[in-house]
Amino acid sequence: MLPVSVPLPASNAAAPAPDTYRHRGQRRALVAALRARGIRDERVLAALAAVPRHQFFAPAFEAHAYHDKAFPIGEGQTISQPYTVAYQTALLAPAPHHRVLEVGTGSGYQCAVLLRLTPHVHSIELNATLFAATQRRLAALLPPDGPAPRLRCGDGSLGWPEAAPFDRILVTAGAPGLPPALLRQLAVGGQLVIPVGPAHAQRMVRVVREGPDAFAREEFEPFRFVPLLGAGGWQG
Ligand code: SAH
Repeated sequence: MLPVSVPLPASNAAAPAPDTYRHRGQRRALVAALRARGIRDERVLAALAAVPRHQFFAPAFEAHAYHDKAFPIGEGQTISQPYTVAYQTALLAPAPHHRVLEVGTGSGYQCAVLLRLTPHVHSIELNATLFAATQRRLAALLPPDGPAPRLRCGDGSLGWPEAAPFDRILVTAGAPGLPPALLRQLAVGGQLVIPVGPAHAQRMVRVVREGPDAFAREEFEPFRFVPLLGAGGWQG
């Protein structure tokens, strides 16, 4: 059953573009390219092979869906590059029993990838226009008998206190620093993956909560994300 946070029945939503043999072939080629670029986590690669990325694009732009690049989704935002989605998901390493929070739902693509790895996905989007479109899209294309994400429109830099603690928190927008609310909402043993740094030069950061007051931080490759806004982001 869909939770109340995804209220639109599939019958009210536009039917998703079909997932043809050709699309599946393009996806296999994309996954092979990601493997060649160094993504080794087979569960993550299988999740990317399973989610029809073209269904997150407007039909006119479908031809761009299986190139390894970010693409505009309206409202000045982008669907992340497949390599970035694979990289962040591999670093996050969600297991089926993990409760996950994604900050920055955007197109819903990363959310759909996470749902292949755990049924317990929460995702927050700040932009109300994107939120409404993505809520409709996910209701239309996720299988009705599969897990449904919990979606919310709001400032994800403040987390989702009523649903905390989370085993995994993934931020898909670039932050000026570590949002304190997200650190507080991590379970002990939990992990936060977040791009941190100035607008054009973020580094992927993973923070492990080792104890109530103990956080270990590691830095990884450089990336470039749209800014995380809100109280714990660039407007805070
Ligand atoms: N994960 C997305 C990519 C998102 S791009 C996908 O798979 O398509 C980053 C998104 O973060 C944008 O949609 C932007 O509106 C959103 N965002 C920025 N600041 C935010 C905040 N404080 N809370 C929630 N979402 C935020």
